[in-house]
Amino acid sequence: MTRATEPGRANIGVVGMAVMGSNLARNLASRPGNTVAVYNRSPGRTRALVAEHPDAGLVPSESIDDFVASLARPRTAIIMVQAGRGTDSVIEQLAERFEPGDIIVDGGNADFHDTIRRERAVRERGLDFVGAGISGGEEGALHGPSIMPGGSPEAYATLGPILASIAAVAEGEPCVTHVGTDGAGHFVKMVHNGIEYADMQLIAESYDLLRRVGGHDVPAIADVFATWNAGDLESYLIQITAEVLRQTDARTGGPLVDVVVDQAGSKGTGVWTVQNALGLGVPVSGIGEAVFARAVSSRPAQRAAVQTAMSERPEVQPSYDGFEDDVRAALYASKVVAYAQGFDLIVAGAREYGWDIDLGAVARIWRGGCIIRARFLDRIVEAYARDPQLATLLADDYFADAVTRGAQAWRRVVATAALSGVPAPGFSSALAYFDSLASERLPAALIQGQRDFFGAHTYRRIDSAGAFHVLWSGDRSEVPVGD
Ligand code: NAP
Repeated sequence: MTRATEPGRANIGVVGMAVMGSNLARNLASRPGNTVAVYNRSPGRTRALVAEHPDAGLVPSESIDDFVASLARPRTAIIMVQAGRGTDSVIEQLAERFEPGDIIVDGGNADFHDTIRRERAVRERGLDFVGAGISGGEEGALHGPSIMPGGSPEAYATLGPILASIAAVAEGEPCVTHVGTDGAGHFVKMVHNGIEYADMQLIAESYDLLRRVGGHDVPAIADVFATWNAGDLESYLIQITAEVLRQTDARTGGPLVDVVVDQAGSKGTGVWTVQNALGLGVPVSGIGEAVFARAVSSRPAQRAAVQTAMSERPEVQPSYDGFEDDVRAALYASKVVAYAQGFDLIVAGAREYGWDIDLGAVARIWRGGCIIRARFLDRIVEAYARDPQLATLLADDYFADAVTRGAQAWRRVVATAALSGVPAPGFSSALAYFDSLASERLPAALIQGQRDFFGAHTYRRIDSAGAFHVLWSGDRSEVPVGD
């Protein structure tokens, strides 16, 4: 459905004129056919934006009433304000003024549980609510983000073309798809951010190993990443890694990375990913290690105490011919694991919350605009095209082959890191996950025995159906205990 235009009225509005909202409004205004209404709680931001971009044709309002009045019916407004209470407050103000058929879009980084709640509450008032994950930071918002909208298919029919007009384009396709109903879009955005954490951690471990074991200086490592970016690791994060490593500090004349405090911050979406994965029983160990690695880095008192208490460190292993290629292979294989775990979480979330999510379409819209955009995603699109029911990405022929070919290098890197005392939690946990899946028997059998011993939790046998228990405190015979 295309929207009728009312002369003098805007076909779309944006609430929240901080960096994301103002850039998204400018992006919308730059597309033919759009007239964009803008509003911010503090009018100063709106005034500044309109003054800086007089040619954008923005329609500013200084009150929410005027903003709503400036929108053509049916109205569509995208909220880009601080997630949480700010979003609830703006939703309430819009819902009080909107009419049936109007659409409220939350483009912020909302917790998907909030989106589910908000969608239901807004729908009960006869309005449409769409929670849309938007990735790509401020540049993406301005030039083309990857957009992950949830909400009803009806709302998407109206909203989709507008979002497609501002989204990044990869391989000729806009990086937007209707992910699923209610909170599906924000759930997938959450997983995107979790994968981003894992990817960044793996890249950081590669840098550390190239420096401490490989003996490369920082500019040489920048060159290594730039070279990798020309191959199958090509991605936004690898590209910016080379740029960050090339940055010279004006004060010291040395690499910037050497004067940055080595404590990684976060805004919490990685934690959400892991919390939800734990609740759903999905092993996202790569994402978890990345979140924990940031937490470890941010404990300077503990780090200092351990450095004092245990000052003797292992000798760094000598580098060897091909070490750089080994690190590249370890990075690639660990990255496959991180994505495999992320997609597993999407499958589990879809099952739990009743969403019909096309995994290939998710990979497709992550190919452009977003922080984890990478050539690699083409391979994931192809894998899900070959088999939409793939048990795990690791079982796809292409990825199985790539990981198998890199497995020895991966093992050498993890072993070298461990012997050298260089932490590589991302690489080693990814390898352990892979080896767990690949092992015919796991020591989980022993854990089942322990659980039965102390808690009579029972176990199943490999050779007969039903559950069993050993009379551990009695004659230690086995008894069947039903299913
Ligand atoms: P922000 O710093 O998260 O939030 C500031 C904006 O929220 C201001 O416009 C502020 O209005 C408004 N606001 C806060 N509380 C409000 C309330 N109670 N009522 C009305 N307005 C309120 O802004 P941002 O960085 O542009 O991000 C906007 C959204 O996009 C957030 O949800 C963020 O998580 C998400 N996001 C950000 C990025 C990024 O790279 N920054 C990337 C993806 C998604 P005043 O000016 O009046 O204070």
